Amino acid sequence: SCTFSTSAASPGNMSVPTWDNHYINGQWVPSVSPGRYIDVTDSNTGKVCARVPDGGAEDVQRAVEAARAAIEGWANRPMAERKAAMQRILEIWKAKKKAKAAEWLQKELGCTAQFAKHVQTNMVDLHFGGCLKFIDGVSMEERMPMGTLVVKEPIGVVGCITPWNYPLNQIAAKICPAMLVGCTVVLKPSEVTPICAYLLAEAVDEAGLPPGVFNMVMGVGPTCGEAIAEHPDVDLVSFTGSTRAGRRITELGAKNLKVVRTELGGKSAALMLEDANLEELVPKFVGQLMGNSGQSCNALSRMLVPASRYNEAVQIARKVVEGTRVGRPGDSKASIGPLVSQAQWDRVQDYLHTGIREGARVVTGGPGKPEGLEDGFFVKPTIFADVHNKMTVAQEEIFGPVLVMIPYSSEQEGIDIANDTVYGLNNAVGGSPERAMAVARKLRSGMVMINGVEFSPDAPFGGYKQSGNAREWGTAGIEEFLVTKTFAGKP
Ligand code: NAD
Repeated sequence: SCTFSTSAASPGNMSVPTWDNHYINGQWVPSVSPGRYIDVTDSNTGKVCARVPDGGAEDVQRAVEAARAAIEGWANRPMAERKAAMQRILEIWKAKKKAKAAEWLQKELGCTAQFAKHVQTNMVDLHFGGCLKFIDGVSMEERMPMGTLVVKEPIGVVGCITPWNYPLNQIAAKICPAMLVGCTVVLKPSEVTPICAYLLAEAVDEAGLPPGVFNMVMGVGPTCGEAIAEHPDVDLVSFTGSTRAGRRITELGAKNLKVVRTELGGKSAALMLEDANLEELVPKFVGQLMGNSGQSCNALSRMLVPASRYNEAVQIARKVVEGTRVGRPGDSKASIGPLVSQAQWDRVQDYLHTGIREGARVVTGGPGKPEGLEDGFFVKPTIFADVHNKMTVAQEEIFGPVLVMIPYSSEQEGIDIANDTVYGLNNAVGGSPERAMAVARKLRSGMVMINGVEFSPDAPFGGYKQSGNAREWGTAGIEEFLVTKTFAGKP
C-alpha cells in the first residue's frame, strides 16, 4: 500500500516496517514536520514491531480543513449513495484487509489468533452491517401540528478519538454511522494499536469516497488528540478511552461548547443473589472478565456473593481461573494472551501489590509472569478474595485479568455495593429471573447482564456516571451524529 515503507530504522533498532503517512483529503501524506515516529511493540515479545508517524497539531489542522471543505457536498449526497459507499468499504475490508488486521492485532494488541479473527476484526463487519440495516429505521423528518417541519441533519465535522483495547470496534462504531448520515470525519486512532487502523483506512481509501470525507491523523493524545478536542471547527468529538482522558477532552471541548460524547472506564459488578445458579454463572461471568486479558471496559471485575454462598463461589471461580490458559498466538490451547504494553503490565502489577498490601487474599495468581512466558507482557490471571468494596482494587479499573470477590449480607447491601463506584457502564445479576430483573432495575449502569453475558450488538451500549454519556450501536449509535432542525412558518 501507499502508506508503507520498509527502509527506516530507529537508532539502535533493527529495521522495522514503518508507516510514514496520515490520510488527509483523499491522499496519503507525511507529517507537516516529518521525522518523528512512535514505536509499536509486539506484546508477546516486548520488541518493537512497527513504527508510525508521530503527527502534530498542524496535521490535525489540515485534516479538519479537509473535513470542513467536504461537509456540504457529502451531506447533500443522497442516502443511497452514502450507503453504497459504506457497503464498498465493508466489502473491501472483508476481502482484502480483515485477515491482515487479525495478524497485526496478535502482535500490537497481543490477543490470540482466534480472538483476533473471530472477535476483534469481526467488529467492523458488525458495525458496518448494523448501520446499513438500521439507517432506514432512523426517522429523519417529522411533520408537526401547524405544519412545522422537524428534520435531522448531520452534525458536521466529527473528531473520533479511540483506544487500543477493541481498536477496530471503536473506530467502526464511530466512523460508519458518522459518514453514513453525512458527517465528515477526522480519526485519531490509538497509537498503541495503529496498524489495524491503517488497514481499515486503506479500505476506506480504496472505496473511493470524495476527498475529505474521511481523514486519519496518527499521533499521541496530548498533541493530536487535544488538537482535535479544542479545534473550533470540529462540531462533535466522539471519544472512547479512559475516564482521565475523557475528562480532559470534555474540558477542552467546553472552550467552544462543542458536543463531546464519551465512552469511558468501568468497574462492573456481577451480583449473585441467594438463589443464583453458581455452577453455571460463575464460569460465564469470570469468562467475560478474562476475555481480552481483562482489558474490556465492561469487564465484570467485581463479583458480589451472599456470605452464605461465598466459599462455594470462590472455589468455582478458582477452578475457572486456574483453567484459563495464557499463551502466545501460536498456542492454539491458549484462551488469553498478554497485556497490551509494558505500561499496562506495570499498572496491573501495581494493583496486585496494592491489593495484597490492603489485605486482600490471593486465591490464585498474583504478581509476576506465568512460567515460560517471561518475555512479553504476560500476567497471571488472579483472584482476590476477602475484598472490601472500599479497597483500591475494588474501586479502580485494573484493566487486567484480576477478579475481586466481595461477600455481602443482604440483598440491599449487595445492590448498594454494586452501585458504590464512580462508574456505571455494566453490571450483571444472577438469580431467579423475576428477582434478578427487579434487582437489575436498581443498578445504575447503562447495561445489566441477567443470568448470562450474551448481548445484541444492535442494542445501545454506553454508560451512566463517570463511564460517559455516549450511546453506540443500533439506531441510538446513528442518532449520536445527527442534530435537530426545525422549519417553522409555512415550510
Ligand atoms: P486512553 O484514554 O489512554 O486513550 C484513548 C485515546 O485517547 C487514545 O487515542 C489516546 O491517544 C487518546 N488520548 C489520551 N490522552 C488524551 C488527551 N489528553 N487528549 C486527547 N486524547 C487523548 O485509553 P486507553 O488506554 O487507550 O484505553 C483504555 C480505556 O478505555 C479504559 O479505561 C477502558 O475502560 C476505556 N474503554 C471504554 C469503552 C467504552 O465503550 N466505555 C470501550 C473501550 C475502552
